[in-house]
Amino acid sequence: MDFNFTPEQEAYRQMIRAFVKRETSPELDREIEENERFPEELMPKLAGTGIYGVCFPEEYGGTGGNAIDFALTVEELAYGSEAAAACYLLPVFFAGQMILLNGSEEQKKKYLPQIIAGKLKGCFALTEPGAGSDAAAIVTKGVADGPDHFVINGYKHYISGADVADYIMTCTRTDSDRYNGITIFMVDRKAPGVSIRKVAKLGSRCMSLCEITYENVRVPKEMIIGGPEALDRGWYQMMSSLDMERIMVAASHVALAQKAYEQALEHAKVREQFGRVISKFQAIQWQLVNMAIDIEAGRNLVYKAAWKAASGDRMSMDGSIAKVFCTEMAARVTQSAMQVVGGQSYLMESDLQRWTRMALLGPIGMGTNNIQRMIIATALGLV
Ligand SMILES: Cc1cc2nc3c(=O)[nH]c(=O)nc-3n(C[C@H](O)[C@H](O)[C@H](O)COP(=O)(O)OP(=O)(O)OC[C@H]3O[C@@H](n4cnc5c(N)ncnc54)[C@H](O)[C@@H]3O)c2cc1C
Repeated sequence: MDFNFTPEQEAYRQMIRAFVKRETSPELDREIEENERFPEELMPKLAGTGIYGVCFPEEYGGTGGNAIDFALTVEELAYGSEAAAACYLLPVFFAGQMILLNGSEEQKKKYLPQIIAGKLKGCFALTEPGAGSDAAAIVTKGVADGPDHFVINGYKHYISGADVADYIMTCTRTDSDRYNGITIFMVDRKAPGVSIRKVAKLGSRCMSLCEITYENVRVPKEMIIGGPEALDRGWYQMMSSLDMERIMVAASHVALAQKAYEQALEHAKVREQFGRVISKFQAIQWQLVNMAIDIEAGRNLVYKAAWKAASGDRMSMDGSIAKVFCTEMAARVTQSAMQVVGGQSYLMESDLQRWTRMALLGPIGMGTNNIQRMIIATALGLV
């Protein structure tokens, strides 16, 4: 057993830190949150570092990294800059992972190099009013229209980043069979019949939340993820990308907790009350200690899940455990950090309140924590 990153991973980590320091700033993170703006301008700079290619195979222009490299990238970017993390996730996760895991050879050759060059962003549109946790209940319809096209009609809500994505990975019902009747289409955001409306939300505002209406949207069947032969295979394609999704969510929440903890720690060492710094009070010490324990446990769960994925082992239970623990941990830690910092943390200008709002999404998004617990219960043989 070895808890160290390889020298290459360590150097890569330092490269990301240097990039974040050079190209982003806390002011940028505050500004994009306030203006609810996707920081597009960072994408060419991120592409220039090669970060976009790290987790893609060399044959498509990447450098062949594994799930540990992916976790490391997400953790470092989310720790360093919300702007950089958002710019990583839309291309690499929402578009890239879906195409890498499920795309046809032709699609991989065409789209992955564009993603690696920072020129293509995607979003993933699954959720509908009647299909939240019960994802297989989607009713947005894809109907064959002649030999070469499908027509999509329906409505999605709560879709992250749809307003800036080039392609909307749209889950549609193409057959009445619950699991063998879902097809994922890569829909051009600008296609006639697609309309997108941004909806205000509590946190992570640089990544929009959108409603999408599809009105007779005509899509070539070549745009089915996996090609025409992947018709009705969408459910299984979605399942295949869940492992990386859980690693991604868990790693980003470790980062969120880490920066909140560090801010509370620094504050506790300098803030004086009753004639001494507040870190001398045992109540504050224990709060900080509990945060440190929580973060350490969460980080270990992330990297254990990533290590299993990188070794090719089944890790869906490990991924769910990491997702549940890290998202609930980040909510605990950010709120504890606010308590340690006191009134200043409640001002809108404080970063802590922003991170705390961000952390509240963790247990809800990407498969709620109840659903993750159901997956764990199944793996434990309880269901
Ligand atoms: C900020 C944000 C970003 C999002 N981004 C995207 C995106 O990019 N793409 C996308 O497709 N979706 C996205 N979503 C949707 C998200 O995945 C859903 O909100 C989530 O899956 C839960 O669905 P729901 O909100 O309809 O809640 P519901 O499914 O109605 O759940 C409500 C509550 O009931 C619980 N529950 C439901 N069923 C069970 C059960 N069987 N047993 C126990 N408890 C249960 C849930 O755990 C939850 O606590 C986003 C949501 C938000 C808020």
